[in-house]
Amino acid sequence: MTRPMAGPAQSRGYHMARRKLVYEGKAKILYEGPEPGTLVQYFKDDATAFNAEKKAVIDGKGVLNNRLSEFFMTGLAAIGIPTHFIRRLNMREQLIRQVEIVPLEVIVRNFAAGSMAKRLGMEEGTALPRPIVEFSYKDDALGDPLVPEEYVIAFGWASQQDMDDIVSLALRVNDWMSGVMFGVGIKLVDFKIEVGRVYENDFSRLILADEISPDSCRLWDIETGQKLDKDVFRRDLGNLTDAYTEVAKRLGVLPSNVTHTPTKPTLIN
Ligand code: UDP
Repeated sequence: MTRPMAGPAQSRGYHMARRKLVYEGKAKILYEGPEPGTLVQYFKDDATAFNAEKKAVIDGKGVLNNRLSEFFMTGLAAIGIPTHFIRRLNMREQLIRQVEIVPLEVIVRNFAAGSMAKRLGMEEGTALPRPIVEFSYKDDALGDPLVPEEYVIAFGWASQQDMDDIVSLALRVNDWMSGVMFGVGIKLVDFKIEVGRVYENDFSRLILADEISPDSCRLWDIETGQKLDKDVFRRDLGNLTDAYTEVAKRLGVLPSNVTHTPTKPTLIN
């Protein structure tokens, strides 16, 4: 596959030369935005799993996640969920609002899978009696441990009011996402979101931040059970880009460089 942009290392250098790097994570880089209170979020091709013990560069992943996250964030904004997304800038970058990240991974589960299935000895795919929201404390050195709400409030990571808002936001995201995915034959097994605080005059509120993509969701084909998410990489189940491309295709979201419409007849021998 030919790629229109330089590899991650080269493109990173190119971007760094142009503007100030604010933060580099495992799958994304944040740069200073054009205006105060904005950032540029750059999607890398890097994939990591098991707290970065397993690593790879997967051609095209960043382009797909940039598009898919745009699709999910704009759809959620359209039903009144506030998000950090402002607009997509190019194939790998989007302009976002700068937020103060709440140090939690907010996980919503509809079916048992992954760490929950393991912890409770449940078969993956078991339907849960209702969507379950849980929290992990964002700390790579500790391996993002699961924490009860009690810890979150006692340690001041968020207030009780914040937690109530986070749970209701997460459940609204779940309802919209589940419906949209169901419409294209995909089961939303679970997903992770992050929320951030923004300050407006004397008030602060919580908005959806980070990304929503097959990197942070479990997506199973309803008919075949085929995995169309990062488990393909975690568990060596095949080609990750193919899986994400399938999700993007079904949702009608595809990078513009993939579809090529010839403008004149092409001679085929
Ligand atoms: N997840 C994520 N980032 C993390 C941990 C989990 O995006 O650091 C997502 C993961 O892709 C899945 C959901 O959150 O969709 C639940 O993950 P789980 O707790 O089962 O952890 P895992 O099995 O991925 O270690």
